[in-house]
Amino acid sequence: MNLYPYFILLVFFALALYFIFRKKKVVVAKLSNTDKDLLLNHVEFYAELNAEKKSIFEEKLVHFLGRTKIEGIGVEVSPLDRILVGASAVIPILGFKDWEYRNLGTVVLYPDTFNKDFQFAEGDRNIMGMVGDGYMNGQMILSQSALRHGFSKSAGSENTGIHEFVHLLDKSDGATDGVPQYFMKHDYTIPWVKMMHKEIQKIEDNKSDINPYAMTNEAEFFAVTSEYFFENPERMKDKHPALYDSLSKIFGQQL
Ligand SMILES: [Zn+2]
Repeated sequence: MNLYPYFILLVFFALALYFIFRKKKVVVAKLSNTDKDLLLNHVEFYAELNAEKKSIFEEKLVHFLGRTKIEGIGVEVSPLDRILVGASAVIPILGFKDWEYRNLGTVVLYPDTFNKDFQFAEGDRNIMGMVGDGYMNGQMILSQSALRHGFSKSAGSENTGIHEFVHLLDKSDGATDGVPQYFMKHDYTIPWVKMMHKEIQKIEDNKSDINPYAMTNEAEFFAVTSEYFFENPERMKDKHPALYDSLSKIFGQQL
């Protein structure tokens, strides 16, 4: 009697049972100590968090890095670059419980300048960063040197990485318009728009220390003042207390 077909059948069932009942491995990725050192030494925002918030930050960072490709064009992506891209992504969302950047697959790093022909690059900033639109949807481009500069001591209130991720948050409701609808109560929209216009007017009148690039439009105002909020909260509290309060509400963070 030929047992071979039975044997094959047995193997088949064994395999089927294995795949049905095997335990799904839950991969709890952790940051390496080297990564933590990079964070501590290069990301002041992280260094100043308490232990509990540091661990939330790390969890979100691991999650982001696990689902986002980071590629270099004409540059090598160093471990520090990965950490800085991740930190730029996590800083604005640290106060949101389960937020994910669903509209992002890849972050592309360019050495310094990028192709001027990109249709959706933004004004003066087109050499520093942009969030892709249209056929570039799901992609973000950052200049490696601007990314690194944003986390250096000399960057002041500017941080290109944070700027671009704030655009992405703004864009998540379908309109990059300075009004991140998912993150603000509906009845707060009009006061927020009024505040933006008032602050833009102050910049126009030369009575503000906010980077004039914020005058471009509401979306740029929101991105530029968010950089300021995360990079220099003490100064913002002092110079623009109402704006600080609004951004603090939007991001769910007290700095
Ligand atoms: Zn911008």
